[in-house]
Amino acid sequence: MSETPVRVRFAPSPTGKLHVGGARTAIYNWAFARANHGTFILRIDDTDPERSTEENTQIILRAMRWLGLDWDEGPEVGGDFGPYFQTERAEMYRAAAQRLWDEGKAYPCFCTPEQLAADRAEAQARKDPFQGYQRRCRDLDPAEARARIAAGEPYVLRIKVPEDRGDVVVRDAVHGDVTFAARELDDFVIQRTDGTPTYNFATVVDDAAMGITHVIRGDDHLSNTPRQVIVYEALGAPVPTFAHISMILGADGKKLSKRHGATNVEEYRDAGYLSDAFVNYLALLGWSLDGETTIIPRDVLASQFSLDHVSKNPATFDPKKLDWIQAEYLRTMENDEFVEKVMRPALAAAGVDAGEHDAAWWDALAEVVKPRTKFPADVATVAAPVFATADTLVYDEKSVAKGLAREGMGAVLDAAREVLAALPAWEPAAIDAALEALPEQLDVKKRLVFQAVRVAVCGNLVSPPLGETMALVGRPDCLARIDRARAMAL
Ligand code: GLU
Repeated sequence: MSETPVRVRFAPSPTGKLHVGGARTAIYNWAFARANHGTFILRIDDTDPERSTEENTQIILRAMRWLGLDWDEGPEVGGDFGPYFQTERAEMYRAAAQRLWDEGKAYPCFCTPEQLAADRAEAQARKDPFQGYQRRCRDLDPAEARARIAAGEPYVLRIKVPEDRGDVVVRDAVHGDVTFAARELDDFVIQRTDGTPTYNFATVVDDAAMGITHVIRGDDHLSNTPRQVIVYEALGAPVPTFAHISMILGADGKKLSKRHGATNVEEYRDAGYLSDAFVNYLALLGWSLDGETTIIPRDVLASQFSLDHVSKNPATFDPKKLDWIQAEYLRTMENDEFVEKVMRPALAAAGVDAGEHDAAWWDALAEVVKPRTKFPADVATVAAPVFATADTLVYDEKSVAKGLAREGMGAVLDAAREVLAALPAWEPAAIDAALEALPEQLDVKKRLVFQAVRVAVCGNLVSPPLGETMALVGRPDCLARIDRARAMAL
């Protein structure tokens, strides 16, 4: 661990919703901060006024909360290094650009787009290895520059890459040292004609001012990094450690996009994924704990995450693996957690009035429903017979035809009703035992007896274990259901 306390940031642009790739970047930053007892900062890079919206910002914050990625500094929580919206930091970018200009590390450039295009064409024609900005305004006489500005001529500010800078080596925790040739570095624009900063400038001004020690982001930004290094050097600020994480691909090897299915985090929330399972899955897209462990609870991620286990190879999004992890989280959940986190919200979402029941009843219901739940939306379906009443229970036609509407089933229901009404204790084992005795007594196949009672009480043939379900439904309603079903039996 480094001596300087770790400070990392996730800096989404609110030009869209939070997508899977952004979420993974956020998770890595969050986990790295937590594992190193550092600070996780959320900064909203809203400098693109055309495409940034307040609505997207709200969606991103909501998605971050759903993911459980609590930030220590940023929107809503504040912090000592704010503001945390780039649009509110305009003055800082202007001051920083002015300082570099005053120190001779930046200069005004008056070249028109036409001039730049002509210079580029000429450089290409003479096969100049240096194809970037041709430094036309770099050595303008300062007095002349001032006069042109005073006369209202538009200008940008460009950074002056030192003559002797040489190649830039980016030290990257994932990619190792990445060398960018000096000739690829031109005097790039840091401030546009309208006075706004460019991404490479604003980002570095902020990362430096916020004391960011590690920049963890998508590797689509690796090519920006040498320019950012030049800005750090001009500002006299320490260069952070970079960690550029790989792209996420779809099964066809192409960059993950809408074509592959849901890409927005909230679509996964709405589809019923558990946030813990989803975070676990995304964390594994490019990182591994030990090369084999798949189930990595949040607290383990937050204590064990490290950059040296991040792969530089692209990761493939595998919905099947996500579903498997989801199933594991549900399967291993304690009943009381399943009741509170999954069952009650799912029933409420399905508009089911669960009524008043004690903890033991809910526990018994969880026992029956949990193994049959892959997604929270399954809960209402699996538990439907339990929450129905004799009046509202829906009878599945095919099940009725198969289980009830056959010769002799009327007598089966009559006998079942009688033994069930007489049972001293209304418990799963006792109910099952009472029903077990009927086939022999009536000389009817066991399968047929159970089918008939199952359809009578649950409305279908695929419901959960009969004794448990009937215990949950309660005796009076079970008997009332049998009475109702009696009319359908022959
Ligand atoms: N706002 C930038 C983005 O969303 C941040 C990139 C960075 O982390 O520097 O791509």
